[in-house]
Amino acid sequence: MKAPREFTRKRVLVTGGAGFIGSHLCTQLVARGADVLCVDNYYTGTRENVEHLLDNPQFELIRHDVTFPLYVEVDEIYNLACPASPVHYQFDPVQTTKTSVHGAINVLGLAKRVKARVLQASTSEVYGDPVVHPQTEEYWGNVNPIGIRSCYDEGKRCAETLFFDYHRQHKLEIKVARIFNTYGPKMHPSDGRVVSNFIMQALLGRDITIYGDGSQTRSFCFVDDLVDGLIRLMDSPAEITGPINIGNPGEFTILELAEKVLEMTGGTSKIVWAPLPSDDPRQRQPDITKAQEHLGWKPNISLEEGLGKTIPYFQSVVDKHHR
Ligand code: NAD
Ligand code: UDP
Ligand code: UDP
Repeated sequence: MKAPREFTRKRVLVTGGAGFIGSHLCTQLVARGADVLCVDNYYTGTRENVEHLLDNPQFELIRHDVTFPLYVEVDEIYNLACPASPVHYQFDPVQTTKTSVHGAINVLGLAKRVKARVLQASTSEVYGDPVVHPQTEEYWGNVNPIGIRSCYDEGKRCAETLFFDYHRQHKLEIKVARIFNTYGPKMHPSDGRVVSNFIMQALLGRDITIYGDGSQTRSFCFVDDLVDGLIRLMDSPAEITGPINIGNPGEFTILELAEKVLEMTGGTSKIVWAPLPSDDPRQRQPDITKAQEHLGWKPNISLEEGLGKTIPYFQSVVDKHHR
């Protein structure tokens, strides 16, 4: 049973709250006066990511795997639980699909029972290797159903399907955010994604590994901008369900990113070339017209500025663990 709202702060559940984006989201929600319940199985997240919140009475942390039912009383749910780096989501692909699909069913069942608004952290991966560029929300995508990225891409697509079916069938208030590549402090140093790999390699003087010829593109959003977009979406009027792209439209080749990281770290690493993993998307850039119109949101932090905030974080990790 939920206590009447007039006696409580807003109670917000964040699944995957000890991960990279989740930990920034928990910090922001606590700062805005919510009671935050963070649920995580620590597959890729850590208690350290939320260490600064552990003594705060507005914050509670539970170790739990979202593929199992969860009975708690909350007003809003942000569903972020899912490994996001290809290295980690491909390590146990069956668990990845279970996390997206069973996890979505459980948070939707919970949202239905307690009449909570629920936001899904979906992804630009639902567009697969896109033939429409930049990607608008109307584009249905170009996704391989049986490749090594499919556990993540199809898991996230099925989660979107479940969100919209619970919305139509059970009148749930849903919000679906399609998140494009996001980076910033608290990314795990061995996360395997391109920004963390390149910065760690540059700081440690190791070779910078470019997969393929480096001409593939990505659009990188700084985490503070992203979290602001997610909260605006959650707080938007009920008729705004999404899906809605949240990302930074600045598009860079992976070679350009490597050069920028080398320049900004002052690193002397050399670039080495490695095979392109299968199904690696050629290009990716969000069309954010909808986010601008419906949420009044656009990113404010350029890649250069964001890297300037991220590199010192990884430097502190290097100083702590690698010296
Ligand atoms: P992350 O790996 O740092 O965080 C994911 C969190 O979910 C981790 O704390 C992990 O331990 C937890 N988790 C995984 N499986 C779980 C399970 N079964 N039960 C409970 N917790 C579980 O990744 P992130 O970058 O913070 O991504 C957060 C969300 O945003 C993910 O859903 C991801 O798909 C989505 N997303 C991220 C990006 C990005 O570029 N960072 C892009 C698109 C979408
Ligand atoms: N569920 C949950 N917490 C709740 C309510 C439901 O984890 O507070 C789970 C429940 O285990 C079920 C799933 O959510 O498997 C879907 O719930 P729903 O009510 O939609 O379906 P049903 O229980 O009828 O299968
Ligand atoms: N990539 C790379 N070197 C690395 C890690 C990634 O060249 O050390 C490439 C990868 O092949 C892809 C791009 O960088 O083309 C972004 O990879 P990431 O894993 O960060 O995200 P995603 O492919 O899911 O967008």
